[in-house]
Amino acid sequence: MQLREGSGAVGIMGGSFDPIHLGHLVTAEQARADLGLDEVVFVPAGSQPQKPQHTTPSELRYLMTVLATAANPAFSVSRLEIDREGPTYTVDTLRSMRQSRPNDQLFFITGADAILNILTWKDAKECLELAEFVAATRPGYDLHRLESEGLREHVRILDVPALAISSSDVRKRFADDRPVRYLIPLEVEQFARKYRLYRDGSDAA
Ligand code: NAP
Repeated sequence: MQLREGSGAVGIMGGSFDPIHLGHLVTAEQARADLGLDEVVFVPAGSQPQKPQHTTPSELRYLMTVLATAANPAFSVSRLEIDREGPTYTVDTLRSMRQSRPNDQLFFITGADAILNILTWKDAKECLELAEFVAATRPGYDLHRLESEGLREHVRILDVPALAISSSDVRKRFADDRPVRYLIPLEVEQFARKYRLYRDGSDAA
């Protein structure tokens, strides 16, 4: 796609980041390089209407995301969703980003399994118009699932081997007292231990 003069390309990395792990960071860096992005803005999700189960308080997920991304000059973290009252909808985030960056090309990057449900999201059609969607996939991911939802032509695929790491596995490791080192940044591990996150396993699934 041709960029307008004076415009940039921005990746919007959407996710719960509960907690953020190296798979997310590798995804963002790979997207930056492969898509020629000027920057990647991580947007930790606020409260999600389609996700009734327990998630870690948004402020703590935000702070872990800041700790994990601080050293990369191309990465930043937005409070857009966690400061928003009520449920979080991606369409509101994309409208707001479009308003603040009228000339930039926007790419919304998230997990392929999340994108599989996009047709059930609020104002799904508008979402697909406001940004190009990038589905990060784990090794062995069955792309037919995107095809069967009719999404393949609307979505770019980013194959990220490091996404063998998952937040649910990291949470379970904390609960089972197994190592998380080299799966999440050391600062995130220290923060999670300090605030005693993920210890009782109630949020491990
Ligand atoms: P999720 O259902 O918790 O995650 C689905 C899968 O995608 C998991 O395997 C997850 O792995 C992976 N994933 C999530 N974010 C990722 C990322 N940035 N990069 C690579 N893999 C990622 O999904 P979620 O985290 O709650 O939501 C994902 C995004 O979709 C958020 O921005 C959310 O706001 C948006 N969303 C919007 C609506 C709506 O507007 N109605 C509804 C649902 C979701 P990990 O667990 O390891 O991250």
